[in-house]
Amino acid sequence: MGINIAIDGPAGAGKSTIARAAATKLGFIYVDTGALYRSIGLYCLEKGIETTDETAVSDVLSDINVELRYIDNIQKVLLNGKDVSEDIRKPECSMAASNVSAIPRVRAFLLDLQQKMAKENNVIMDGRDIGTVILPNAEVKIFLTASPEERANRRYKELVEKGNNPDYNELLAEINQRDYNDMHRKTAPLKQADDAILFDTTTLDKESVVEELLSIISSKLGDK
Ligand code: C5P
Repeated sequence: MGINIAIDGPAGAGKSTIARAAATKLGFIYVDTGALYRSIGLYCLEKGIETTDETAVSDVLSDINVELRYIDNIQKVLLNGKDVSEDIRKPECSMAASNVSAIPRVRAFLLDLQQKMAKENNVIMDGRDIGTVILPNAEVKIFLTASPEERANRRYKELVEKGNNPDYNELLAEINQRDYNDMHRKTAPLKQADDAILFDTTTLDKESVVEELLSIISSKLGDK
């Protein structure tokens, strides 16, 4: 049985950057569960399946195989054997992932894979329902958040650094839409677990967040 650290929170709160850095320091595997929903979203986009069509998406799940591999501790996502780690980052995959993630059969389809990873390894797993549904017994649970404006701002800077020319208002609208979808879906909505620690990073830089996160983790693990 591995040590399990669950990090949940809304889109763009910096969960992946922070969780990855903390996992490297702790020698844990970092599991980005959003990548799983993105892979299903990508599959549907490629096949021309409407990602909000619950029946159509549910019907193709039997044709989908998603695997996680770790190469030098970097997560790779394989969709039917093909490495889609880059493709799933395309902006259209964000909304597709958000749409398919509201479908109960999609969530059930991805449950075992996530729980198996956590059983066999020491993991920091990030997502929306890790502390509430996937790993309710995780040793440490953190709910990482930041204001929507700050999250849009971080995403804006990230895209500019990659040479893109994003529209801030569009990014903010997408973040607000994804927050709404994630918090209002019937199955496994985004919410803070009762025993999770709320960590608001709005005014903090990445280094301070990682430092603070490591200190929360070590004090929680020290209590065990
Ligand atoms: O974390 P990321 O932004 O890559 O996730 C993409 C989408 O996948 C989210 O907007 C959310 O709807 C969904 N998701 C989820 N549960 C998770 C991880 C992601 O519903 N554990």
